[in-house]
Amino acid sequence: MANRIPIVVGNWKLHKTISESSELVTELKNQLGTVRDVQIGVCPVFTSLAAVTKRLEDSNIMVGAQNSFYENSGAWTGEVSAEMLVDAGCDFVLVGHSERRAKFGDTDADVSRKARAALDAGLRVIICCGESESERDAGKTNERVGQQISAAMDVLKADDLEKVVVAYEPVWAIGTGRTATPAQAQEVHAFIRGLLGDRFGAAGTGIRLQYGGSVKPANAQALMSEPDIDGALVGGASLKVADFVAIVKAARPG
Ligand code: PEP
Repeated sequence: MANRIPIVVGNWKLHKTISESSELVTELKNQLGTVRDVQIGVCPVFTSLAAVTKRLEDSNIMVGAQNSFYENSGAWTGEVSAEMLVDAGCDFVLVGHSERRAKFGDTDADVSRKARAALDAGLRVIICCGESESERDAGKTNERVGQQISAAMDVLKADDLEKVVVAYEPVWAIGTGRTATPAQAQEVHAFIRGLLGDRFGAAGTGIRLQYGGSVKPANAQALMSEPDIDGALVGGASLKVADFVAIVKAARPG
């Protein structure tokens, strides 16, 4: 994993009320509060953000949103801007999650604009990418992931990359219980790192890359031991304290 600090983030999707969210992070803080060698984050629903950021104030656990919009204000009913996320105490935001792309029509261009706006607002950004099952079966994994990364790279500068993480999440592995094998995941991670290195040099090769897609305690260590996998973006398992804690511990170096 070179000198890149591992990063493990929980994506809670559409789960947890405000009080349930506060309860979950209180327990995470109790169990993970002293971990310093893994960067840890949680992404609650928008309505829980203020309570969770308050609960995690001065802790080692970062708070992120699951999505944000590329405009800061205006007639955009239902949207939340990156500046508003900063106001709510967020550290980072996910953009381009495959559920946003598939169910809400987020295009590669939208994802890039969202990433740019989030960075401009001062947030860290996790840019998600990944191929569908039919794209993998057609041998188009690198083509599809390459398009997504190219679109993102068009709005990034080398200076931004310290605040950017890319999450490779094969769509066929998200919420399905099917996980990419460590070798399959490593192959795509190496491809992504190569693209970023070609464009940005050392800043590109130094970027952190997470794997996501049915990560659980039983497979976390094998995935994160691969040389280009620097952590995990965790959906379902992040809702269970014991599982998320075990995944964070599996990410610890050495
Ligand atoms: C996700 O939501 O980003 C994800 C990877 O989900 P799961 O871990 O449930 O597959």
